[in-house]
Amino acid sequence: MRSSEVAVVTGAASGIGRAVATHYAGRGVRTVIGTFPGDPYDPGETLASVQDAGGEAVIHEVDVRSTSSVDAFAQRALDEYGRLDYAVANAGILRNSPLDELTDELWNSMLDVDLTGVLRTLRAASQRMEGPGALIAVSSIAGGVYGWEEHAHYAAAKAGVLGLVRSVAAELGPRQIRANAVIPGLIETPQSLDPVNSLGPEGLERAGADIPWGRVGRPEEVADVIGFLTSDASRYITGQSIVVDGGLTIK
Ligand code: NAD
Repeated sequence: MRSSEVAVVTGAASGIGRAVATHYAGRGVRTVIGTFPGDPYDPGETLASVQDAGGEAVIHEVDVRSTSSVDAFAQRALDEYGRLDYAVANAGILRNSPLDELTDELWNSMLDVDLTGVLRTLRAASQRMEGPGALIAVSSIAGGVYGWEEHAHYAAAKAGVLGLVRSVAAELGPRQIRANAVIPGLIETPQSLDPVNSLGPEGLERAGADIPWGRVGRPEEVADVIGFLTSDASRYITGQSIVVDGGLTIK
């Protein structure tokens, strides 16, 4: 491992993003923790978790709907630590809507965060990387391999991410910058615990019983895969997508 690597992670005040920052702490990767002020999550809890793991991080407010905000976020890595090696475009929202009620406004707002937000993050980060480096986009089984009713807009955004990553990987390969996606299944986080837009606690437990692994996933189980894809161990893997779902979609 190269010493003193640096990562930026969006949506890192909760869920999978927090687990990624904590994973990096254990590896000595310094992290800019992206936090969205519109949400109730406490980035201080992520920072505490990083510090408990012996790591180093700073908190930076970022709204992935704004190019200037995302540019400033990626720049923080250079200003704070002098380099940028990894970027994880993890921030995302989930709102359910039957097709009949899916307004253009909801469609556009979903794509702005879950698809264009990923583009803004990967673009801003790659512009600041010397290479070698690695970019990650967090997709979803809904966008890759599973049809989820009432989530056409979410599915479209998450599918778009997969094409985006392949193209970026082809373009940035010569600069030694890789791009890959992870495709989580059902992972217990604030997003999936929301009973209105997702399954909620009881729905998750029921769904877990049908998963070959016998339960829903933990954020750390996605973070470990992101960690692998942003490490030297995966140095010849680019433009790929890895499903992390305990076997949910193989049945
Ligand atoms: P989460 O709600 O805990 O995390 C999402 C994060 O994104 C939050 O910290 C939130 O503040 C942030 N965010 C929302 N809007 C933002 C904006 N405009 N700018 C910056 N940040 C913003 O849920 P999670 O499950 O940890 O989600 C992480 C990613 O994983 C998301 O992209 C989600 O779609 C994806 N995912 C989750 C699951 C699951 O089962 N939990 C499954 C598949 C994919």
